[in-house]
Amino acid sequence: MLRIHELTDGERRRAMEDGLTGLLNRRAFDLELARAISNADRRTGKLALLLLDLDHFKKLNDTYGHPAGDAALRGTAQTLARLLRKGDVAARYGGEEFVVILPEADAAGAAPLAERIRQAVEAQQLVFEGARLAVTASFGLAVWPGDGKTQEALLAAADRALYAAKQAGRNRVVPAATLPPPAPEPPAEPAP
Ligand code: GH3
Ligand code: MG
Ligand code: MG
Repeated sequence: MLRIHELTDGERRRAMEDGLTGLLNRRAFDLELARAISNADRRTGKLALLLLDLDHFKKLNDTYGHPAGDAALRGTAQTLARLLRKGDVAARYGGEEFVVILPEADAAGAAPLAERIRQAVEAQQLVFEGARLAVTASFGLAVWPGDGKTQEALLAAADRALYAAKQAGRNRVVPAATLPPPAPEPPAEPAP
């Protein structure tokens, strides 16, 4: 049986990496978020989470082809990597969704950074086989612990904010704190 300690560093890295973009993959991100929350809880008291989803990405694929879409995903990952600081964590969360952990950031710090990233994504000069690819993204911003205390609650808050950003017309940042509180779960049916 192959044991984990027998893996090479390269094999370990590949297990954490998204093959297309070189960012962390979802599994690695989940571990990093757990670590960041526990760190915020014990030490810094702060943590912000950004969830971003490319706008109308299906249309870009349909118009220019899947390889062009792949190039846009790689370019966007590079833009993220360029704007983030040491200690920030960026991951590919799913198809055309990315997620960023900003340790030690509160809403006042994270919102301007999110806006800078939004502008940088919009300003990217992406060219694939002679075609200029226009890419924008919508952002949901959630801050620990106010918008969610657990990993699941924080991600759910960022996801609600991202959904609101799409609803409001895309290519914008919406902080979860600006949303109305989620509807409470309906009470369970009384047993007959
Ligand atoms: P919205 O603005 O509402 O997010 O619209 P959308 O078109 O971006 O969203 P939708 O979920 O309808 O489509 C997402 C598209 O992303 C569809 C899928 O083909 C594409 N996609 C997901 N992963 C990849 C990938 O790895 N490469 C490429 N080229 N496309 C991908
Ligand atoms: Mg999506
Ligand atoms: Mg999308």
